[in-house]
Amino acid sequence: MQDFGFHRPADVKGALASLKRAAEGKYLAGGQSLIPVMKLGLAAPSDLVTLSGLAELKGLRLEGRELVIGAGVTHAEVAESTEVKKAIPALRELAGHIGDAQVRNRGTLGGSLAHNDPAADYPAAVLGLGATVQTDRRRIAADAYFKGLFQTALEPDEIIVQVRFPVPERAAYAKFPHPASRFALVGVMVAKGAGGIRVAVTGAGPGVYRSAELERALQARFAPEALTSVTVPSTGLTSDAFGSAEYRAHLVGVLARRAVAACR
Ligand SMILES: Cc1cc2nc3c(=O)[nH]c(=O)nc-3n(C[C@H](O)[C@H](O)[C@H](O)COP(=O)(O)OP(=O)(O)OC[C@H]3O[C@@H](n4cnc5c(N)ncnc54)[C@H](O)[C@@H]3O)c2cc1C
Repeated sequence: MQDFGFHRPADVKGALASLKRAAEGKYLAGGQSLIPVMKLGLAAPSDLVTLSGLAELKGLRLEGRELVIGAGVTHAEVAESTEVKKAIPALRELAGHIGDAQVRNRGTLGGSLAHNDPAADYPAAVLGLGATVQTDRRRIAADAYFKGLFQTALEPDEIIVQVRFPVPERAAYAKFPHPASRFALVGVMVAKGAGGIRVAVTGAGPGVYRSAELERALQARFAPEALTSVTVPSTGLTSDAFGSAEYRAHLVGVLARRAVAACR
């Protein structure tokens, strides 16, 4: 890894100013994605601006019918939260199965969403639950946030401050984890709530997406059997050493049925 400057701002305003002063700066949260990327030489920022310790990015609370989670909240904090368990148990389950204990203790919600790995779990939760990403300057609806492989609607210096999850009537997440990393070979979030029925798929393609055919079938009847006759297209899905596009398409159907059966 090449040398870099390190900055510890006191607040979001200070973080924005530090990044502006840097030649090619990057924010650092839990470091569970950025540090490996730097070690591999795929990124070489001149400066790291740490967001850890910023009070504005902390906290987890219910506001009316929305669960508001700070971008700096770790996966472990979500997995251990009784508030999350009560409001959106599916989210607690999802966070509890990210990586291993070390990753969950360091990695953050905001870091996962900004990085937008095509096999990450949180993007499926944000898109499936129809959440809103609140940044230092605006609110971005989930449907407008994810832009494909490692791409998001964020400006280069924009900071995710919190995510607002509407509390669904019922939701569940089912994942087929990669045996080594625990990233999703395929993961499916199913939610039924004020925004209708939403099905978000991660791991299967170059970015998280909503499955129109599964949503249509569940609108007709919200039951696992409603998905039995649905064919999930493999066009555009990923083929690699771990699974063909056809295998991933098959998994999407299987996991969607499991998620619907587990919805509560
Ligand atoms: C071994 C291993 C296994 C893993 N398994 C899984 C898994 O099963 N499922 C899964 O979903 N993920 C998995 N991950 C990824 C993990 O969840 C990371 O924690 C997460 O992707 C990044 O979060 P972070 O806080 O570590 O961000 P960092 O690595 O610090 O940052 C990642 C990117 O986000 C930017 N960033 C960070 N915070 C913000 C913010 N608030 N606003 C704007 N930009 C920001 C940074 O500049 C950087 O570009 C795994 C990682 C490892 C190393």
